[in-house]
Amino acid sequence: VKILAIESSCDDTGAAVLADGKILSNKIANQSVHEQYGGVIPELASRAHQENIVPVVDMALKAAGVKKEDLSAIAFTQSPGLIGSLLVGSCFAKSMALALDIPLIGVHHMQAHVLANFIEDPKPAFPFLCLTVSGGHTQIVLCESPLNMRIIGETLDDAAGEAFDKSAKLLGLPYPGGPLIDKYAREGNPSRFKFPEPRIPGLDFSFSGLKTAILYFLQENVQQDAAFKETHLADICASIQDRIVSILMNKLVKAAEETGIREVAIAGGVSANSGLRKALETYSARYQWNYYIPKFEYCTDNAAMIAMTAYYKYLAGDFAGLDAVPTARAAF
Ligand code: ATP
Ligand code: FE
Repeated sequence: VKILAIESSCDDTGAAVLADGKILSNKIANQSVHEQYGGVIPELASRAHQENIVPVVDMALKAAGVKKEDLSAIAFTQSPGLIGSLLVGSCFAKSMALALDIPLIGVHHMQAHVLANFIEDPKPAFPFLCLTVSGGHTQIVLCESPLNMRIIGETLDDAAGEAFDKSAKLLGLPYPGGPLIDKYAREGNPSRFKFPEPRIPGLDFSFSGLKTAILYFLQENVQQDAAFKETHLADICASIQDRIVSILMNKLVKAAEETGIREVAIAGGVSANSGLRKALETYSARYQWNYYIPKFEYCTDNAAMIAMTAYYKYLAGDFAGLDAVPTARAAF
């Protein structure tokens, strides 16, 4: 089974080739056009996907040493995402499937983030819990099998990645600020400043209160000392990161206790965060969890995770028609 997968849900155009469950190539074209705006501009993203998709697919096929004629199926990200971006990938995938007369597979992007944990060994055993922390989502997912998963907790407002990026913006750092907070936090004292932990029932999350608390904290301190942000940058970053990580980990511990599951994975761009990785390691030792973190290139948006998910769908005979419609939001 050889599958070409296309990912175009947001601002990166990805293409990957999989053969019998193994990733042969994983290529991505990042869009730099959004940097000057401090966030992704949907219309510019769609146009950049149109420019990038042909060369990226070509690169992925060449790197894998696979000819178009040898493909068994074409997979694409069907939802969720920016609708214009999804349309570019889905139209391209449909055209290619039609031209080659092979099946089409529609993939749910958030399910794929979870299944990024299956690209390399060791793989989680079922059932396992996955904390998916990305730019647009924060979810605790209970996975019974590759295609049977459900959300048992999620954010009621901002995503963890947004909490990082918005905090960074308040500190005057460029977009996306998550990796920069991580970088400065390494030199800071996480106990220097205390930010509030929201009281949200069950396994859900909330990050909007933290953002407001940080805003007021900075305003007050800058009033007294104009150079406050610069002087205390490392300690502020370390304290913010420590709070975001504790919010995430406390709910993950609760989920593990309630379900009795000790196989725990993380996924999504924020799983690159060194504080979160460290905490996962520490908690795993404390609670005797087996933990899993995908390689960095499989944490942020990539087509390899789409290919992996498509492989399971292929084996299950779960194909999409040429009338498959991409949607900005969808349940798995
Ligand atoms: P979604 O899948 O929800 O649509 P996305 O795929 O665009 O969102 P990802 O690419 O998975 O999001 O993750 C991007 C987010 O990860 C950004 O918010 C970024 O700041 C954050 N991020 C990346 N690296 C780090 C890091 N080291 N520390 C904290 N945050 C990070
Ligand atoms: Fe994503």
